Amino acid sequence: MLVRQILKGKGEGAGKVITVKPGDRISEVAAILAERRIGGVIVSTDGETVEGILSERDIVRSLAARGATCLDDKVEDLMTRNPVCCGREDSSDQVLTRMTEGRFRHMPVVEEGKLIGIVTIGDVVSARLSELSMEKDALQGMIMGR
Ligand code: AMP
Repeated sequence: MLVRQILKGKGEGAGKVITVKPGDRISEVAAILAERRIGGVIVSTDGETVEGILSERDIVRSLAARGATCLDDKVEDLMTRNPVCCGREDSSDQVLTRMTEGRFRHMPVVEEGKLIGIVTIGDVVSARLSELSMEKDALQGMIMGR
């Protein structure tokens, strides 16, 4: 399955991706993550150019290292800069390989330098599972002569 098919399945398009700004406070991002039930956000000043990514792991690590004072930090203090991105024509297998190698679970989708979506490891695994289920049904159909 291709990234564009995953995005379509999520009903996600330009303008729908949640972004935060580098100057936003970590406490604000924590509230967004909790409210939206998501694990990470893309950091972008203009909502189009990807400058970084901030995940719940970045916040938890900082909380463990420095305590609750990190909630007053800015996003740019904790974010990962220049995250690995994918394109809409990349396959779910390519994305899963990059996520596994890089040990992260979020990937911005970029086209012509502009953010068009985000895929998570959950999206990719779910896409793979439905592919496997369709393959199984097709193989069963062939064996049973349907
Ligand atoms: P995650 O597993 O996505 O919650 O992130 C684990 C760590 O990887 C955190 O430090 C994130 O900031 C970082 N990270 C998340 N996504 C990416 C990405 N696409 N490229 C590079 N680093 C990332």
